Amino acid sequence: MSLHDNRICIFCGNKPNETTREHVVPYWALEYTGDPRRVVTFGHNYKTGKSISYSWSSFVAPACDTCNGRYSKLEEDAKDAVLLLSARKPLLVSQYITLMDWLDKVRVGSWLLRHMIEKHPASLKPNFYIDSRIAQKDRMVAVYFFDKGRGINLLGTDSMIFGDMPSCFGMRINDILLLNASTDFFCSAGCGLPHPTSITFLNDMARIRLDGIGYSKDVSNPITPIRLCKPAAWLYQPIRLPSEDKAFSGGYYGHTNLHDSRITSRTFSHDERQAALFQQKPGMVEIHRNKHHQVEFDEVKGADITPFFEIAATVYDTQIYLHNFISYDGGDASYRSERLENTNHFATLYRAQRVSK
Ligand SMILES: [Zn+2]
Repeated sequence: MSLHDNRICIFCGNKPNETTREHVVPYWALEYTGDPRRVVTFGHNYKTGKSISYSWSSFVAPACDTCNGRYSKLEEDAKDAVLLLSARKPLLVSQYITLMDWLDKVRVGSWLLRHMIEKHPASLKPNFYIDSRIAQKDRMVAVYFFDKGRGINLLGTDSMIFGDMPSCFGMRINDILLLNASTDFFCSAGCGLPHPTSITFLNDMARIRLDGIGYSKDVSNPITPIRLCKPAAWLYQPIRLPSEDKAFSGGYYGHTNLHDSRITSRTFSHDERQAALFQQKPGMVEIHRNKHHQVEFDEVKGADITPFFEIAATVYDTQIYLHNFISYDGGDASYRSERLENTNHFATLYRAQRVSK
């Protein structure tokens, strides 16, 4: 089922019976940041070549009524977390998990909707929807605070890498910016959990192949080579992939021993799938295993305070990093370099704005 021809529910991928519409950027966030009917530009129509202007309030996608209802609790809890951050109040570990679930939802929703409204030439047949992408892959969030007025921005959703691989985006909500990333096993190695030693996309990302098992004794510092401007909070969470391979007696990829104390010390109790939160702090990593604990902010001051445009540029840098984190077998190499060049161009444009301001 292609996104162009059929109305599909962005949560489950089925054809909805109802005419329910889901606000991909939730309505509460639109109201909180200004007039929900304000018009903004969202990429361009590949068929007509014209840029697409849209009112935020019509940035909606088809959804089943029941699917939509299933996410209302997540929306409420995410709103609480965002408002706390806006008030510069620290979140609990459990609230960061909620926030990352919600960012998975907005990121994948924006990707699906972008393909629906842009008439993308690749006529995408997605093999996942929101339901199948929440808390399913290693993920990360970085929190930034600004002195900024009201407004909302989606960063990174316009690049060619994002069009094919919605693995990283940024979301500014008034005076905070959340930089979010998620892809297979990108932080498992650094967090000292079993992981494939190589990940390969086959046939233009149609399938993924995992090879080898790595499992380091220690947690790395830094956790990954991803370079960000200093955030107030920077958290990683590895997500373990279930495996039916009999060699993995723990039931997860690379987990060969049912009673592995190292895994226990790096995951939440009673939840082997979701690892603990690993907080990247200056010069060290702190592991949060208690969901009721508070995650303290790092102080960002002086030369560490980075302009908005520079942080925006790092969204594209991170997309490039994650794109190259995976190997490619087959597919169109020149299209791949075009995709990289395009994404790098966005980073350059944002950096140029930094200079001119
Ligand atoms: Zn549905």
